[in-house]
Amino acid sequence: MTTPLLPDSLDSDLPNLALLPMGPSDRSHLLALLRLGDFAQDAFLATDTCGTIVYLNRSAERLFGYRHGSAVGLPVHALLPDIQDINHRLNQDSSRETLLWRGQGCSRQAQTLQLAGAVTHIPALSGRSHLYVMRPRRTGSLDADRQAEIAALVYRNTSEGMLVLDSKGFILDVNPAFVSLRGRAQSDVVGRHVRCLNSPCHDREFYRTMWRSVMETGCWQGEHWGQHVNGELYPEWLSINTSFGDDGEVHRRVMIFSNIAEIKQAEAIIWKQANFDRLTDLPNRQMFHDRLEQSIRKARRAGGRIGLLFLDLDRFKEINDTLGHAMGDDLLKEAARRISACVRQSDTVARLGGDEFTVLLDDIHENRDIQRLTDAILKALSQPFNLGVETVFISTSIGVTFFPDDATDAETLLNNADQAMYSAKADGRNRSHYFTSSMQERAQTRMRLVNDLHLALDQQQFSLVFQPIVDLHVGRVAKAETLLRWHHPVRGLVSPAEFIPLAEETGIIRALGDWVFHEATSQVAQWRSQFDQDIQISVNISPAQLRHEGLDLPSWASHLAHLGLLPQHVIVEITEGLLMDSDDERIRQQLEAFRQTGVRVALDDFGTGYSSLSYLRKFNIDFLKIDQSFVANLHSGSADHALCEAIILLAHKLGLKVVAEGIETADQYALLAQAGCDYGQGFLFSRPLAAPAFEALLSSQADLRP
Ligand code: C2E
Ligand code: MG
Ligand code: MG
Repeated sequence: MTTPLLPDSLDSDLPNLALLPMGPSDRSHLLALLRLGDFAQDAFLATDTCGTIVYLNRSAERLFGYRHGSAVGLPVHALLPDIQDINHRLNQDSSRETLLWRGQGCSRQAQTLQLAGAVTHIPALSGRSHLYVMRPRRTGSLDADRQAEIAALVYRNTSEGMLVLDSKGFILDVNPAFVSLRGRAQSDVVGRHVRCLNSPCHDREFYRTMWRSVMETGCWQGEHWGQHVNGELYPEWLSINTSFGDDGEVHRRVMIFSNIAEIKQAEAIIWKQANFDRLTDLPNRQMFHDRLEQSIRKARRAGGRIGLLFLDLDRFKEINDTLGHAMGDDLLKEAARRISACVRQSDTVARLGGDEFTVLLDDIHENRDIQRLTDAILKALSQPFNLGVETVFISTSIGVTFFPDDATDAETLLNNADQAMYSAKADGRNRSHYFTSSMQERAQTRMRLVNDLHLALDQQQFSLVFQPIVDLHVGRVAKAETLLRWHHPVRGLVSPAEFIPLAEETGIIRALGDWVFHEATSQVAQWRSQFDQDIQISVNISPAQLRHEGLDLPSWASHLAHLGLLPQHVIVEITEGLLMDSDDERIRQQLEAFRQTGVRVALDDFGTGYSSLSYLRKFNIDFLKIDQSFVANLHSGSADHALCEAIILLAHKLGLKVVAEGIETADQYALLAQAGCDYGQGFLFSRPLAAPAFEALLSSQADLRP
């Protein structure tokens, strides 16, 4: 709608015009001019002497966005903000009646318009009534033809598919990229309604919402599934924009399609790497956490129960170390496959890392179901693993916990399952344990103990006891094994079996180990001079002391020198497990460095670990200590008897001396002595003794044989 033609009774329709101080003939001139103005392409605007708009033609209304004379009565600077300046110039030069100008206009929608035009005095009036004639000024450096050429170039050569619609949604044109993207010829789509491109992946509601947004705001963008003519679906990014005509009506709509299949693929790969374990393809720790949180939320809403299993393969490390990592990987893959085969499709099996797996079970009703499952997993994993030419047997330990019975948050549930798994391991492996509150109490006790351990060394709560190691041939004390004791201010005596692992985990073992070494060597130096006996001191070393930067050997050596003690008077006892540590080379070097100084090395608890005799060759070792578990069941003709004899024989062949641990009876002593065992240690001879008691034993020079 535009303003109606000026009626004959202009004076009444445009009352402001009547205010113009002019004579009747001038007024009729003006009216004639304005009547013509309504047909002009250029914008016409007339003001009275006060600068108030008294008239706009239709072009001016379109240009400034006003309708039906609504701008009449406004001050002219509302539409032409810098007009004061122009009027001033016109008024100053009395010889001029008309001035050409360029300037800015302001539309009703507050858009800035670039204008060019002319201003003139309205004839025969005092110089302050003006008639303005103007048109939009073309800006930018490109002319219209050039702009059109560039636009066409982009349209034809871009890799984005483009499609032009008329205002009713019929396809006017498509560009070549669209043709290749969809595999549809231009003639196949032009003239049809855009609806023909709707994809089966989206419902009617999707398209209704999309087009509603286009109607209301002129645009829409989002992900969309495009369909190739061969039926193949692919993800695309779709943007729809609208071009409006001068009259504000919809002129065209432009749709732009970008294929984002590759981006999506890359995203999927990144997502998979972040959430799945590369070796087994199972969800990883991150993904498992997400699923656990999700299950907990669901169970909370629906009042459900969740079961969480924590699995750790038993002695996997030994297999990894002896057969190599490639075989270890194969075993893990096969283990993952077997565990997955035991659970329902809806359950989650994840690999947290190393040889640790978890199983998440939603909707648990009966504990029996869990028991059946853990039994099935234990059985599946106990079947032989055929890894190339090798056949390997493993077992697994499983911890079980429930939501909401045991805990209601993911972190605690995982901790519980982990504790239950450790309890299964401690109970002999190859079994499942349910989490109990006593495990939690144990964990808390343990935490408190760790705190106390931090203070114990400074507060001198440690002491040493010494257990005689007897030369079995002559019955005399030949060496002393140093054993550490912790006198806890509240709990009393705490066993090293309990606190040594804590000291190892917390790193306290380094300072503690140094302290033991310094105390024990000082003690033996004193005894050697006091009793004139060739007695050696044996000190237990934890693997944790050899890891990382290792021991401070120079400081240990200078301490020995200061005491006047020869290195060969000192034996370090390392456990068999240590030699199988993955950090083999580093530990081997440390042991070698030890040996270089002249210190002797004993392999402790032999028989409890992987018991590979190849270690004995690989590492330079002086003594082998048969574990007390073999000695405990030693009867003439028993399997352990045969084993002890074999170990002693082999050790001697390799040039090692043998110490038997835990000799408690005269029979055990006799059998070991017969088998040629060199040294023995155990309650039969003496319990571990505090220094004064040990000194008494030394000075007695007793023959300790039964
Ligand atoms: P181990 O080195 O194998 O020490 C021998 C353990 O057997 C000692 O237990 C000793 O008291 C015990 N024992 C000795 N004779 C007999 C016997 O006839 N029958 C029985 N049943 N047991 C006997 P303890 O003192 O409780 O030490 C346990 C373990 O703690 C040690 O085993 C050792 O591995 C570790 N340990 C002790 N002191 C230290 C230390 O200063 N540093 C490190 N890293 N570990 C230590
Ligand atoms: Mg020992
Ligand atoms: Mg031992």
